[in-house]
Amino acid sequence: MLMKPLHTARHATEAHLVRGYLEAQGISAIVRGEYLAGGIGELPAGLCKVWIVHDDEFARADDLLQQFLQGKNARDYAHERWHCATCGEALEGQFTTCWNCGSTRPE
Ligand SMILES: [Zn+2]
Repeated sequence: MLMKPLHTARHATEAHLVRGYLEAQGISAIVRGEYLAGGIGELPAGLCKVWIVHDDEFARADDLLQQFLQGKNARDYAHERWHCATCGEALEGQFTTCWNCGSTRPE
């Protein structure tokens, strides 16, 4: 089975946001290329991609991604916005861990 890249992220943080969002919807996704895109700073953008593990989930993942990028999900969950207790990052309600420092959402 060949995996397909769903989304080319601007940076690793965005890629992980997308991956976490998809996994919250029950879709298996992985991030590849983050180490290439990270350290040196001279590499071209577009190396950090989100891949969908199961081909038959790709179409649904693509739909979800479009909603995500348009901010629909963010608006739906806007009332659940929370702040990380560790680093103070503002996070949307659909995320249960802080993408900035990895802390778990408080109860
Ligand atoms: Zn944090």
